[in-house]
Amino acid sequence: MIKDIRADFPLLQRPHSSGKMLAYLDNAATTQKPRQVLDAVRTFYEVCNANPHRGAYEISNEATERYEAARARTAKFIGAMEHEIIFTAGATDSLNLVARSYGEAALGAGDEILISIAEHHSNLLPWQALAARTGAELRYLYTGPDGRLSLDEVREKIGPRTKIVAVTHVSNVLGVMNPVREIAEIAHEAGAVVVLDGAQSVPHMPVNVQELDVDFLAFSGHKMLAPTGIGVLYAKAELMGKMEPVTLGGGIVELVEEQSVRYMEGPGRFEAGSENVAGAVGLAAAMDYLDDIGLKEIQAAEEGLLRYGLEQMRGIPHIELLCDGDKDHTGIIPFNIEGVHPHDVATILDASAVAVRAGHHCAEPLHKHLGVRFSCRASFYFYNTKEEIDRLVEALKGVREVMGLGTE
Ligand code: PMP
Repeated sequence: MIKDIRADFPLLQRPHSSGKMLAYLDNAATTQKPRQVLDAVRTFYEVCNANPHRGAYEISNEATERYEAARARTAKFIGAMEHEIIFTAGATDSLNLVARSYGEAALGAGDEILISIAEHHSNLLPWQALAARTGAELRYLYTGPDGRLSLDEVREKIGPRTKIVAVTHVSNVLGVMNPVREIAEIAHEAGAVVVLDGAQSVPHMPVNVQELDVDFLAFSGHKMLAPTGIGVLYAKAELMGKMEPVTLGGGIVELVEEQSVRYMEGPGRFEAGSENVAGAVGLAAAMDYLDDIGLKEIQAAEEGLLRYGLEQMRGIPHIELLCDGDKDHTGIIPFNIEGVHPHDVATILDASAVAVRAGHHCAEPLHKHLGVRFSCRASFYFYNTKEEIDRLVEALKGVREVMGLGTE
């Protein structure tokens, strides 16, 4: 574990009703917040809470400055330019925006969208709906037995009609990292754009849009220490220039007349309504916090937890691990305990103050492809400890007995 950071996280100090300390292992769902982020949000409200971009008075100007500083901070975090960063409500909102704006304009009947079977519903349903609206075909890449996508299949399935390739960087179920750079190269050769769902990668490793050469990148603040309700859509400048706004309202226009409108240029065009300034400020503080530790260090710490977790969990009788964790893998371990429904597993673990996720994790087609209906998922962040993993393993060993399935 990275040294001395647990004390930064108030919720990690909270005892569970069982009297034990909470072992929070559901970080792929959302992450806990350090005091530095909570303080930044609180300070914003205490010092300069006002609507940005509108008021001609001091605190409104300060709110504008902080909001735009957060945009610049975000751009730096992913190697983009400020005017390529659209603030959204989260990854879901970002992906819907690309599909409804860029996608709607780019696709016609007979065109193709290529996604993977491992997509979260947020990077699946917007494309499914877009295909239905435009007459385009939604095609899938399938993970192999090791949970990985094959570049040969990518080459085979991308053709002249492929306009959009939308893939996740890291699967929220399997934890497997996809070869995005290579996929982008193949997609670009065929004239398609690449939409990357970075919800499970941006919080956990260095992600640079230029190195990956993706056209769009979506991610959520709350999965990287920031508040809920703030997210990001990176859009390459020339592609953003082709996008029409889909949410219409205040703050996005140059001129409105009774029967016509001229929208402003740049990211503000997509941020109708009162902006989530406190969220953006919190996101910037979260990025400062992560950069202070270093994303490489965070990735290495999580790799250590993954190795340790896999090693310990492999020894549990009747466990089925749904990933091999061999390489290109983040700190996510999906599993099932034979004969026990994942919801029962999670409830039994909760009695030991161990929090994991159970269900289909908003990835139903992936579960069907894997031949299971549901799974449990333990997911780590850099603040987790080996001791917490030990507690997970101990609790898992007792699950079948609690269910009356014996001690073996
Ligand atoms: N994509 C992936 C891979 C995710 O894990 C999630 C959240 N579980 C999302 C998209 C959606 O993120 P949000 O709910 O923050 O919009």
